Amino acid sequence: MAFELPKLPYAYNALEPYIDAATMEIHFTKHHGAYTANLNNAIAGTELENLSIEEILVKGSDKTPVRNNGGGYFNHNLFWQWLTPDGKEKPEGELAAAIDSAFGSFEAFKEEFSKAAAGRFGSGWAWLIVKDGKLSVGSTANQDNPLVPGAGVSGYPILGLDVWEHAYYLNYQNRRADYIAAFFKVVNWDKVAELYAAHK
Ligand code: MN
Repeated sequence: MAFELPKLPYAYNALEPYIDAATMEIHFTKHHGAYTANLNNAIAGTELENLSIEEILVKGSDKTPVRNNGGGYFNHNLFWQWLTPDGKEKPEGELAAAIDSAFGSFEAFKEEFSKAAAGRFGSGWAWLIVKDGKLSVGSTANQDNPLVPGAGVSGYPILGLDVWEHAYYLNYQNRRADYIAAFFKVVNWDKVAELYAAHK
């Protein structure tokens, strides 16, 4: 069964001025669209074909087209859900307590996450990861994520930020730090809390 591009949960312009409509449309239709099509091509007729995307990330990690496009498909599926025009400023409840406990405060978490996003050289992602109930921050290259063997970090990604230039360059050019700050205006903390509860 082929993977499909999910439905974007808001309009292309819904996250303006933080993420502009042109970037959203190209990022979703062209980039995520290409990862989806290329993943389907890479697994067609192979032993990976009928597995879940999470299983494909693990079992196909030694095959470059599967690793890159499977990661791209999975990461963007979650990325659109991690964003919302109706975001709260910060997490609440159990997730807020876990962030305070792991990082000292929400502000300290934001600083560490922003540093990981800014410090990722070239293309990649910054992550908030849960493993065995513990939260940590990290980053990966290319379309790797913490589920991919050999990604450098491991666990379940409960929040991620795409720092490929295609995610921000039209609006922010070289100002990745401004894009990272804008991201925190549109984070869907309810989705992060849902993933934390499911994978802690
Ligand atoms: Mn992207």
